[in-house]
Amino acid sequence: MKAAVFYGIGDLRVEERAMPKAGPGQMVVKIDYCGLCGTDVEAYNHEIIKPVIVLGHENVGTVYEVGEGVTRFKAGDKVLCGPPSYCKENCSFCREGRPNICSYGFLRTNGIGGPDGGFAEYMLVGDVEHTMIIPVPEGVDLKEAVLFDVVCVSIHALRRSNFKFGDNVVISGGGPIGLAAIQVAKAAGARKIVVLENNDAKFPRLMEYGADHCINIMTSKNIGADVREALGNPDGADVTFECAGKQSSLLTCIYDVAKNGSQVIMAGTVGEPMDKLILAGVTPREIDLISAFVYTPEEIEIYLDMLASGKIKFPGMVTDIIGLDDIVEKGVARKKRVGQLKVLVDPSL
Ligand SMILES: [Zn+2]
Ligand SMILES: [Zn+2]
Repeated sequence: MKAAVFYGIGDLRVEERAMPKAGPGQMVVKIDYCGLCGTDVEAYNHEIIKPVIVLGHENVGTVYEVGEGVTRFKAGDKVLCGPPSYCKENCSFCREGRPNICSYGFLRTNGIGGPDGGFAEYMLVGDVEHTMIIPVPEGVDLKEAVLFDVVCVSIHALRRSNFKFGDNVVISGGGPIGLAAIQVAKAAGARKIVVLENNDAKFPRLMEYGADHCINIMTSKNIGADVREALGNPDGADVTFECAGKQSSLLTCIYDVAKNGSQVIMAGTVGEPMDKLILAGVTPREIDLISAFVYTPEEIEIYLDMLASGKIKFPGMVTDIIGLDDIVEKGVARKKRVGQLKVLVDPSL
């Protein structure tokens, strides 16, 4: 079978590998789609994932073979296969229902539920009991189901906050996570949703998803004033979501957007040094900076149920479906990403 194997920075090779075989407690999934994540691009450019490994942690597929002792699934089942879940050691975080910050899961496995990921025709789930495997409900489009990774980051971010029905929300960053955050905040009962973006071309889709107002951070003369006017509130946002993963975006959220005593949820991970953050602008206003990291199996189930009932929807989120052979050129190494939202790999192409 074909698989895209990561060997190190700038080195992702599509090669022929032996078909996996399901041992006890394992199963083999035939991959229908595997989403290309910012993490995969980061790995390709900066080796944040340890090689040698097949990348891909946003998988939807069909159970192909189950090993001895696996009773929850059978061949033919449609499933989402995510990162590892509750660890074998039953660490204190897993016991508290927070496997996303498990002491072992992500560290040992690169965050890939495999051992190898889903940029392949087939994927071995090496430990069915300790991997996020969630059945896909009848009638759910697999191309939407596979968006679980990006949407559940936003669901988790909202659940990390103390958002209440009727709160005003500002979202910084109109990429896939920002778009998902709009739908999630809207479904949760946000009063007004204002989005900060640097590209006007994204505004129509942001409005279609449920933004009440979009502000261009490049052309605005006073972002804080524009936000307060758009919210109709002289103090600022009740809850602010940073979804761009940039220092400038986080600083805007803290200094220009969040009202005193409110929370800024860091749904994007800022990779650059935070050399311009001055806490004297944060502590006297009692701004809470809340980090949010990935999601839990329960949040995937929430996503699928709300998707199945139409409470949240993501039209146009998938902008490209490519085959494994194009994964470097049109995937991880692609230079022009204007207009691109989510890229899916379909190994059958
Ligand atoms: Zn991801
Ligand atoms: Zn654990």
